Amino acid sequence: MSSVVLDKVTKVYPGDYLAVDRLSLRAEDGEFLVLLGPSGCGKSTLLRMIAGLEEITEGDLWLDGQMANHLAPRDRDVAMVFQNGALYPHRTVRGNIAFPLEIAKSDPAMVRERVTELSKVLHINETLDRRPGTLSGGQRQRVAMGRAIVRQPRLFLMDEPLSNLDAGMRTELRMEISALVRSLGVTTIYVTHDQVEALTLADRIAILNRGVLQDVGTPAQIYNDPATAFVAAFLNSQQLNLLAAHVRTPQNQYVMLDFGPHQVTLPWSDPRAYAISQHTGGQVLVGMRPDGLAPVQESYEGPSFFGRVRALEYHGHEWLAYLECGMPAVPVPEPPDPRARVNGTANGSGKLSGLVRRMFAGHREEPQDQEQVGQHPNSGIHRRSDLIIRLGNRPIWRAGDAAKVAVDLSRLMVFTVDGARIDPPRR
Ligand code: ADP
Repeated sequence: MSSVVLDKVTKVYPGDYLAVDRLSLRAEDGEFLVLLGPSGCGKSTLLRMIAGLEEITEGDLWLDGQMANHLAPRDRDVAMVFQNGALYPHRTVRGNIAFPLEIAKSDPAMVRERVTELSKVLHINETLDRRPGTLSGGQRQRVAMGRAIVRQPRLFLMDEPLSNLDAGMRTELRMEISALVRSLGVTTIYVTHDQVEALTLADRIAILNRGVLQDVGTPAQIYNDPATAFVAAFLNSQQLNLLAAHVRTPQNQYVMLDFGPHQVTLPWSDPRAYAISQHTGGQVLVGMRPDGLAPVQESYEGPSFFGRVRALEYHGHEWLAYLECGMPAVPVPEPPDPRARVNGTANGSGKLSGLVRRMFAGHREEPQDQEQVGQHPNSGIHRRSDLIIRLGNRPIWRAGDAAKVAVDLSRLMVFTVDGARIDPPRR
């Protein structure tokens, strides 16, 4: 078991490419910490720096209270599982799992016993005499896990271990990883871009974007109480409803979020009211998850939106409705780009500022996903002025119906126009 502390860790690749920017994070002893973020945000780089496979450009890494920046990988007592197993093709399953113990010159009888025992836990005891080439993808990943676990390292690092598997196998192995790692109590840092994996596996999730830590907390904290609009949108399988609203405080009676055709009021007793009222006269962004809106009768008098059903979408376990309410959805603001800091004068690091001009050259080619998020890319039906609502497993509306939805005020998330939460998240 082991704790991991990253203190303002930065990685600049050759070619002056800033992949991780002053990232501070702690994994507690025995914790399952998931690093989540879009492809290219620096997750693997961070993991590889912890493993000692990449040099840390700036900042400190502590393993179990020991400064580890310059420890050789073999001295870190860390086991890593990669996306595609990377097994020894000419060794049997038994030989692959046993390999780390053989290298350590462990007692052969003990090795045999450990491998047999572990192969049962991993459900590969029937395959012990086979070569990796004859195994399914799921079995190969189980062997890779076995090889990582067999010598009981103090830290597991897993880099998208399930991403090459089909959906069924992914779910099955996900549950097994969770059970196995928890039963061993080994600190685990797990990289994924899959929000479902993150939510289901993690004790805590750290969300990254462009090499910058955006938020860290338990799955429930991150989902219900995200620090930024980016985090809220990233952790939402049905897309976040994000709308612009003017803040008004008429005669100081209450706080009103004025969406144009619709208004929602918050009483002063609402814990967020004061923070939001500081933006009176200005604009804010309001996030609502599709499950924070519920169909109601026309006579409903509580906070609500009304409109016309544009389309319904069947998702097997539920229906989604797209409601045209005359309120334009806004694109999710991208978090601040560290390039701005590096190019400006705020950066206190001489080493980094010396790299300024060519910094991030690679990033420039990358497509901006900001527009796509606002346009809800997963749906061909959805338009920018639709609200998305979860209907459960009964399509109570038809396209063209007039419809009303209640707004669960406790589920509203209010952000500045830059996407930062106005009422501070609780951690
Ligand atoms: P993720 O794991 O989140 O997909 P990575 O850590 O692999 O992201 O990469 C972060 C960024 O650093 C990417 O833009 C990637 O292209 C870049 N990168 C990764 N490895 C190298 C390398 N060896 N040299 C230069 N750039 C790299």
